[in-house]
Amino acid sequence: MNNHQYTKYLFDNVKKISFANPGVIRDTYGIGENLTHKFLIKELSNFTKDIIIDFGGNFLATYEGKIKKKVVVGSHLDSQKHGGNFDGLAGVIMGIVIIKYFHEKKIKPKYSIAVMGIRGEESCWFPYSYIGSKIALGQFDKKLLHTLKRSDTKKSLYYHINKAGFNSNKVSKNKVNFDISNFKYFIEPHIEQGPVLEKKKIPLGIVTGIRGSFRYRDAICKGEYLHSGATPFDYRKDSVVAVSMLINEMNIFWQNQLKKNKDLVITFGQFFTDQKEHSFAKSSGLVNFCIDVRSNSNNTLKFVNRTLIKKIQSIEKKTNTKFFLGKETNSQPALMSKKLISIFQKYSKEKSIKFETMASGAGHDASVFANYGIPSLMLFIRNKNGSHNPKEYMSIKQFMEVFKVLCGTIENNYI
Ligand SMILES: [Zn+2]
Repeated sequence: MNNHQYTKYLFDNVKKISFANPGVIRDTYGIGENLTHKFLIKELSNFTKDIIIDFGGNFLATYEGKIKKKVVVGSHLDSQKHGGNFDGLAGVIMGIVIIKYFHEKKIKPKYSIAVMGIRGEESCWFPYSYIGSKIALGQFDKKLLHTLKRSDTKKSLYYHINKAGFNSNKVSKNKVNFDISNFKYFIEPHIEQGPVLEKKKIPLGIVTGIRGSFRYRDAICKGEYLHSGATPFDYRKDSVVAVSMLINEMNIFWQNQLKKNKDLVITFGQFFTDQKEHSFAKSSGLVNFCIDVRSNSNNTLKFVNRTLIKKIQSIEKKTNTKFFLGKETNSQPALMSKKLISIFQKYSKEKSIKFETMASGAGHDASVFANYGIPSLMLFIRNKNGSHNPKEYMSIKQFMEVFKVLCGTIENNYI
């Protein structure tokens, strides 16, 4: 089989293994993820004997180069419930096909090349992201082994890791099986989950950073339920007006930040009044809403948060309302390696391959490796119909475009 045929064979077989109409189910430490893991390891064993499975069930297969330090290519094996076949899997298959390529051509690259199949990235199974990559790096908080319960079985992560055939006890001691000190780079090829590459017909996204976030999931604005006909403007305490003003002002602020080239997305949602009390002929006394703000810069996130609070204080005065933002949750942005970004930009320019330099709005395993201190990069593959749904579609042709770039940079000693 040539590389194109072999890639198709891998995607088709994993789809068969994990098919769950509509889409696929590769559940974290469940049947779908386990079968995928087994199948891919069997395939890898045709090209290398150096395959290690860690206590948390991640695999690392290495093809030896001239030196021990390795370029690790990988992504996650799990999927959303009834998700698409390409999210995560594309990065693992990319690593396998690269190893196949070097094995068949009998080329020894400068660095060793490793492919990593990572467990439990999606937070729909356990309410926590990056379980596998944190275990692989010895960064997993052991308390979570017992407190995290799988959303369908209600059983603990501890139980599921053991049931899948791995070792929760060793995980709880943060035992690491992989030779992390030899990880020179971590590269995660991944389908783009937004529409940019598809709309612009560009085959490659070179990712600058993975956005961090702050969120207020349970914000409210309190006003007063007052007669809509009888209450003049100055006496109103309308929470619908107050939250609408905030959304509008933050939207204008967002546009201004974009003009200053700040990386930023701001989303308001779950905007609703209280069904028990609201009615046609009242101003509204209560609005529930949530805010999700993401950026690849911690400074930008802090600045937006301060701006949000200031705007709220001024709107409270203007509308006689009171905002309560509730608990704030955060995630840290992760910057991709500047060195790797410029290497891939240079190589793509030289080969006249169109690329888009872009931030990743979604979270990915690469953020764990980057924040650990391993120079990391994500390469986005053009993909149709978004992601986390069964219609997600990446053609093998588009996959091969990014394969060419990654393989080329390794073979020609750019990395
Ligand atoms: Zn993913």
